[in-house]
Amino acid sequence: MQPATNHIHLLDPKANYDAFLTLAASLLLEATPPDAIQWQDSESGAGSLFDPTRTPEDLADLPRLETHTSSIAQRLGRKGKLTAHHADPERWDLLYRIAYRLSHGRERNLLSDILDHDTRKLETLAHHVSRDMHKMKAFVRFQRVRGASDEQYVAWHRPDHRIMRLIAPFFVGRFGAMHWTIFTPHESATWDGQSLTFGEGVPADQVNEHDQVEELWKTYYAHIFNPARIKINAMVKEMPKRYWSTLPEAQIIEDLLKDAPARVRRMIEAQSTSAGATPFLPPRNVPLTVLAEEAEACAGCPLSEMATHTVFGEGPPNARIMLIGEQPGDEEDRAARPFVGPAGQLLNQALAAANLSRDDLYITNAVKHFKYLPKGSMRMHRRASPKEIRACKPWLDREIESIAPDTIILLGATAGQSIFGAGYRVHQSRGQRLTHPNIRASIYPTIRPAKILRAPKHEQPQMLTEFIQDLRNATT
Ligand code: SF4
Repeated sequence: MQPATNHIHLLDPKANYDAFLTLAASLLLEATPPDAIQWQDSESGAGSLFDPTRTPEDLADLPRLETHTSSIAQRLGRKGKLTAHHADPERWDLLYRIAYRLSHGRERNLLSDILDHDTRKLETLAHHVSRDMHKMKAFVRFQRVRGASDEQYVAWHRPDHRIMRLIAPFFVGRFGAMHWTIFTPHESATWDGQSLTFGEGVPADQVNEHDQVEELWKTYYAHIFNPARIKINAMVKEMPKRYWSTLPEAQIIEDLLKDAPARVRRMIEAQSTSAGATPFLPPRNVPLTVLAEEAEACAGCPLSEMATHTVFGEGPPNARIMLIGEQPGDEEDRAARPFVGPAGQLLNQALAAANLSRDDLYITNAVKHFKYLPKGSMRMHRRASPKEIRACKPWLDREIESIAPDTIILLGATAGQSIFGAGYRVHQSRGQRLTHPNIRASIYPTIRPAKILRAPKHEQPQMLTEFIQDLRNATT
């Protein structure tokens, strides 16, 4: 069947995912290919340039539409829904392309293929929206409206994406007993104790500011402020300056921060010049959970200042196989879990192909904090230095001691250098079983999964096959 139209724009600019799903379902029923459609947000002003337009109402009588709509929603899953609320104008094209490939391209496993460009873009956009929601949950501060007859609270927030409808239920759950309105530039949400309604966005200067709620927040924030724990880059990253004018505690942050760098530096110098993580280690033989908790407070090298979390290993304490990677990446740092980003997904794929269950393995990194170079809004991965690898080694030693695995798989050079020293080279050791005088496990070196992701596309399948074979060889 021929497509009924070559162009579409969505009438609702507020990231109306339901409208998209209905339109997409009708087009997929007609087998309309992605390149026959151009998706537009109507507020972009480009809608009038294209004709004809199609609205969900036009499609109400199409057969099987309802079933097909929910099937698409199911296939795109939560990541599809998050992506729909991204500010990227190409998000609808991406979502439709993926929906088309899933239903007409016979690519049912598309969303498990981490090497696929569309899958990775979906992951990235969904992650951005998820992170924006996290910030909004953390930084929205309600202020009481002076002179209102009922107790009425307002808050202003400027998210990067169009997340109001996604996030509003969270605030209903948390502040259900209050009457409140949250304003954002795109949209506002109002809760009257019984129902949630959405309205127009409102500029910041129309929101009441400064009352007793602020004083409470200031007192609370000054009380809990601990410069030894603060991570300034992470804090500025988590709380960009544009939010500061709307946060009561932000008025005292700058004063508190003035002294923090010097105090943190003094702590680090005093505690870790040569000892690295050692002063932060708990007594021997504590459970792994305690080890992980203590590592949270480690300032054994300057990396703790940059990262958001210590990313400790995870897995059963009696695991027979231990995987050691390099260091956490951007997503691992945010989630405080090892190998959850794209490299982690590739690792999961490879483990499954090698008949290994991730649940049976202990997975960790040689360095527990994310090292990066800020570049705009991005955090570019930087390799840990030999000094940082040595500083973090006491944590790895304790993990190996506690798990006492039979096999250790080294994922990349940093892991190997942590165990065997700076002279270790992956290409010289790969494929061999190594031993170490202080470690009872047999040690099997291979590459790190991220190396496959960064390789030229045409080399990736072969690299992945060899990596899977390494995992098989190491464990048989
Ligand atoms: S990287 Fe390791 S040694 Fe450095 S602060 Fe983090 S946990 Fe401590």
